[in-house]
Amino acid sequence: TKVQDMSAEVVDSNPYSRLMALQRMGIVDNYERIRDFSVAIVGIGGVGSVAAEMLTRCGIGRLLLYDYDKVELANMNRLFFRPEQVGMTKTDAASQTLSDINPDVVLESFTLNITTVQGFETFMSSLRNKSFRPNKEGSGVDLVLSCVDNYEARMAVNQACNELNQTWMESGVSEDAVSGHIQLLIPGETACFACAPPLVVASGVDERTLKREGVCAASLPTTMGVVAGLLVQNTLKLLLQFGQVSPYLIGFGFNAWLQGYNSLKDFFPTMEMRPNPQCSNAACLERQKEYLIVKPARDAAIIAK
Ligand code: ATP
Ligand code: ZN
Repeated sequence: TKVQDMSAEVVDSNPYSRLMALQRMGIVDNYERIRDFSVAIVGIGGVGSVAAEMLTRCGIGRLLLYDYDKVELANMNRLFFRPEQVGMTKTDAASQTLSDINPDVVLESFTLNITTVQGFETFMSSLRNKSFRPNKEGSGVDLVLSCVDNYEARMAVNQACNELNQTWMESGVSEDAVSGHIQLLIPGETACFACAPPLVVASGVDERTLKREGVCAASLPTTMGVVAGLLVQNTLKLLLQFGQVSPYLIGFGFNAWLQGYNSLKDFFPTMEMRPNPQCSNAACLERQKEYLIVKPARDAAIIAK
């Protein structure tokens, strides 16, 4: 039986053998493909740093890290950063820890604010850069993870990804630290962040008023760890095509675009969000038009399979 086959495998000290076992157990067809993928993480805070560590331990090919902030003592109620890193930029501190954990991962870090003109330009050009995999189609990265904590930064990620036709995932934890969400965004195919801001939908709270000046938000390593775990699990499913795989390129493994998490009730609501034909984002409307053109052929390909 399968179980006996497994026990016959030699257990060694290489961390990759535990990951390759996913293949022997029939979960993933080709785990080694993880080495080909580039993931950009915007915001290396409570969620982003943990997501970066998970992807590093999974052996991701390349990580691009963006944050403008420094490590503070106040961050110690979260995972990842250590007291001796206080005062370092989050990008430097993260690169230090991540390269120690797994020197095989190509790390690129950007200490910048993506909402400034200069920061946004550098962000865009770094996503376009294809030096890691010159023959890759589309942009230079496979996925962008948004792990920021404010509306303007999410709108900047949304703008960049709509312009580049780049699939991305958004994440967030509520101000009271007991709920969170992740959302998959595929330009033209799903709602973009401007089509319907997810937090408004998920919690009834308008996020523009959520991050208030002078208000000390609560945070818990548990909720942030759960959200980072959901985010990276979905990243692995998307990149390595396992889980509920539907027969064509994108959207596989996901029966919902928006997943909420309420820790007080252990409640995980999910919903699908279609693009808004009246979206205020011009690049979103362009992607929506393109999607309507390719959709019939993709639907036909599914039926043929
Ligand atoms: P808190 O404000 O609650 O003390 P925090 O600022 O570390 O914590 P987190 O939710 O843990 O917030 O992480 C969000 C991260 O996103 C932060 O590290 C922050 O610096 C980063 N971030 C937010 N906006 C931008 C931006 N425009 N450009 C780059 N990084 C950003
Ligand atoms: Zn939109």
